[in-house]
Amino acid sequence: MPRTDAIATASVPFNKPYVTGSEFAYIQEAIDNAHLAGSGPFSRRCSDFLCDRLGASAVLLTHSCTGALEMAALLADVGPGDEVILPSFTFTSTATAFALRGATCVFVDVRDDTLNLDEQLVEGAVTDRTRAVVAVHYAGVACAMHELKTIAQRNGLMLIEDAAQGYLADVDGSPLGSFGALGALSFHETKNVISGEGGALVINDPALVDRAEILHEKGTNRRAFFRGHVDKYSWVDLGSSFVASELAAAFLWAQLEHDEWITARRLEVWDRYHAGFAGLEAAAALRRPVVPDGRRHNAHMYYLLLPTGAARDRAIAELAERGVNAVFHYVPLHSAPAGQRLGRAAGSLAITDDVSARLLRLPLWVGMSDEQVERVITSVHQVVGG
Ligand SMILES: *Cc1c(COP(=O)(O)O)cnc(C)c1O
Repeated sequence: MPRTDAIATASVPFNKPYVTGSEFAYIQEAIDNAHLAGSGPFSRRCSDFLCDRLGASAVLLTHSCTGALEMAALLADVGPGDEVILPSFTFTSTATAFALRGATCVFVDVRDDTLNLDEQLVEGAVTDRTRAVVAVHYAGVACAMHELKTIAQRNGLMLIEDAAQGYLADVDGSPLGSFGALGALSFHETKNVISGEGGALVINDPALVDRAEILHEKGTNRRAFFRGHVDKYSWVDLGSSFVASELAAAFLWAQLEHDEWITARRLEVWDRYHAGFAGLEAAAALRRPVVPDGRRHNAHMYYLLLPTGAARDRAIAELAERGVNAVFHYVPLHSAPAGQRLGRAAGSLAITDDVSARLLRLPLWVGMSDEQVERVITSVHQVVGG
């Protein structure tokens, strides 16, 4: 019989990777297949599944979402002097992928509701050097994709989605990752569906498929060779080893089989948090996430905005004392040392600076017990409810 004081002091971790139970069996199967490098049967199964889910022209599994974004930067053909518009409120990979090509990152502020790129500010940041715009779907809540698509088309920009957090979320029934010419997914252990490290490049523009396959295979036309389209394979373009290991793909397949179930379990926790904090929002003690009409999110994250940065920092410390591991999020890229060297701000980034100081992320993972969820809700009430 567990001691109640032990329960009270065992802390609620911020994240805990969920495993479905089939991962070992599929990895064993991959070993039995004697195909451990990329592009084996599990890799094909995962890419076909994702291609179908997203209605894409092609999906290539990568070792990470970072790798998929780097492929997107190569496919966008950006180089020194070119500019790429992106939010400052994002993970470094959104920027490093383009900075690696020598392009300048142009940071645009986010909306104060979704914390996503403010589509109304994008055109004001366009210059004759702008080549692409990157939409990051924060917390698995979609950017204004119809509007961004129109803006990208009107200005001749490539639209790229950093959908690292957006798997199985949508806008008007169209999945995130399916709007841009290219989309990047992440299967990092902190995401909803995981393979340890992993990602995928979603290719929606059919004109980009052949070159993407070459970049993916270290700059060779190996893929065309195996299809019998060329009689030997050789070095034909830039590229790198972006391919995912078959072992990671075997793990991923065990997760993709249960992707909707995993999302549903996360949504249950998210919904309980959302109901649990309605009163605090009504009392102006905090602000809850906003999900605009017509967008289905995937419960990737539950965050709260506290009234001030000081209140947020205090909440992290006081929740930790209660055994609740709540954390902050991005240090805005424009204020980071590399962001200052490799990018520039287009206009004010006041909302980015403001929300990043006040944002608090709560534990959210599949397998959290009802008691753990209640404990988080109660602790937040104690810490911020006054
Ligand atoms: C997680 C994440 C990435 C990086 O994903 P990896 O698979 O770890 O490379 C990129 N962008 C955003 C917005 C992310 O959340």
